[in-house]
Amino acid sequence: MKYPVKPVVLPADLRGVQPGRLPSYLLKPIRPYGALHPLAAQAWEALRKAAHADGIRPFKPTSMADTYRSLETQEKGFLARYTTAPIATTSVRTYKGVKYYLKPGMAPMATPGTSMHNLGLAVDVSDASGDRLTWMLANCDWYGFCWELQSEPWHIRYYVGDKVPLKVQQFVSLHADRDIRSAD
Ligand SMILES: [Zn+2]
Repeated sequence: MKYPVKPVVLPADLRGVQPGRLPSYLLKPIRPYGALHPLAAQAWEALRKAAHADGIRPFKPTSMADTYRSLETQEKGFLARYTTAPIATTSVRTYKGVKYYLKPGMAPMATPGTSMHNLGLAVDVSDASGDRLTWMLANCDWYGFCWELQSEPWHIRYYVGDKVPLKVQQFVSLHADRDIRSAD
């Protein structure tokens, strides 16, 4: 299966920010757990609500660490999956001048500081296969998400920068209305 891969436009407020060191105002909690850049977070909520409405449940990140990742979290995950012992593997990475080899049975991971997770723009969706993946392929783009790699169908990232997609705008305005009503 081919996944639509598009270049990422960074939200303006991420320019100059060190990956994995996002200040708290650039992070927003998402349901059911984790955090993303505020624009990606609202798009995720809209996408998740649409998935639920179409009977795709659960629609969640693989784990809390599969949303925004600090440099420390990325390094911890990277060092758990890669070894400096040379082995035959599909993934070899250089980190701090040292070669690392993916351990057998482990999913690849970007070197710390180079992942879209470090910018709060990527989510790994739990069990991205079957009906869930089919649904994602048909719907992610409407919410500003697309893929990064053909080899990682679960990994989607928010690619539209500051241009909030129409469906996300609709979701946000619906919620603003609700907030006004609940204030009555
Ligand atoms: Zn990922």
